[in-house]
This record gives sequence, C-alpha cells and structure tokens, in this order.
Amino acid sequence: MSRSEGQDWGGYGLNPSAWKLVCNKEESVGKKLTIDLFASASNAKCQRFHSLHHTPGAESADAFDRLSWARSKCQCGQTHSEFVYVFPPMDLLLPMWIRLQTDRAAGIAIVPMSPGAPWWTIMTSALQSDIQTFPGTSLTIPEGCAKINANNRLTNLEFAIVEFDFSKSLCPHTKSPTFTPICSQATTQRLPSAVLSASASAIAARRDLWRLLSFPSVSVRN
Ligand SMILES: [Zn+2]
Repeated sequence: MSRSEGQDWGGYGLNPSAWKLVCNKEESVGKKLTIDLFASASNAKCQRFHSLHHTPGAESADAFDRLSWARSKCQCGQTHSEFVYVFPPMDLLLPMWIRLQTDRAAGIAIVPMSPGAPWWTIMTSALQSDIQTFPGTSLTIPEGCAKINANNRLTNLEFAIVEFDFSKSLCPHTKSPTFTPICSQATTQRLPSAVLSASASAIAARRDLWRLLSFPSVSVRN
C-alpha cells in the first residue's frame, strides 16, 4: 500500500512516469492526497483507500457509500477536508464527477481525454490548472477484456491529469465551510482490517434484525 510505482490499477496499468506526474502535481499544489477513492489493496496510491469490495486495509468498501468525499472525521477527533485521488473505472466517470461536485470535493483525477463526454463540463467547471495529458500513455487492458478491445480502441485513449476543486464553486454569498488543517494522522490508515470486518458483520446483523422487526411475518389461519 505504499505509493510505489508501476503497479496495476484495478485492471488498468499506468505508466509509472504518469504517477510521477501526479506526485509533481500534488507537490505544485502544496497539498497532500489524503485518500484513494477507487483502489485495491495492491494498487492503492494512498495509505487510506476505498475498494469496491471489503478488502484488508481498505477504509471501507465502495466509495459511493461514504458520507462525504470532501471531509471526514479523523482519529484526532477533528474534521479535516479531504484531497482525494481518483482514477475510476470508466463506467464510473459520470457518477463520480456528479458526486465530487455534489460534495464540493477537491483533489487530483486521472481521466481519459473525452471532451464530448457528459461529465467533461462538470469537470472543467472546477479545474484549478491546465489539463495535463501524459506523454507516452500506455494503458494495458485487463485480462478477459481482450474481446471488447478487439478494435484496439481502448489502448489508443489519451489520458490526462486534472486538479479540481468544487469547494470554490459555491455561490459568493455562501461562506465556504472551514475545516482544520490536515494533521499527521489524516493520511494514515484509520481502521485495522479486523475492526472493519467485525463492524461489517455487525452492520449486516443489525440490518437483518431491522428487517425482521420491520416486516414481521404474519400467517393467517382459518
Ligand atoms: Zn486529524
């Protein structure tokens, strides 16, 4: 889970030099990426990450189940703003940009260059710097997807790094909420996986109990 280079990204392979560009962008912005919202244990770029399913080390499964992508409660007791890293599966691009906008989140994203896509205008409304395409993008197609890629279209996609901040798109009369600056714990893992799985089963048990209470089975006898 270190920010190592050259690992695969949930099926996609990314040129290590592209990750270097993300790090450079992070440095030029002067902020630290706090969480990787679409990762797996093997490819997470931040210590804190979300994966699609419950995975050891993940803060929880499915980023879309989080209360907010803009801020979170830290173990230090305070609420910090997040600076998210996002490189989502392609079919999540639109829901992801809608959610980033709704939550007024900020961060760095890797996206395919698709100016005609419906999410593109949402993204460009929050850009903080130029769209930076990678030189020499190499994208490897996950195994099993070779069929869809019969025409070699995916490998020809050009990708870009963008820095965005939706918190600034507030109406001028609305004061942007302020949060405490990031502490050293803000980027470190929040929950050991044992606690995660325990809480997951507790939630499932509660859900079953609630279902029983909400929908008591009624049998009619004559
Ligand atoms: Zn903290």
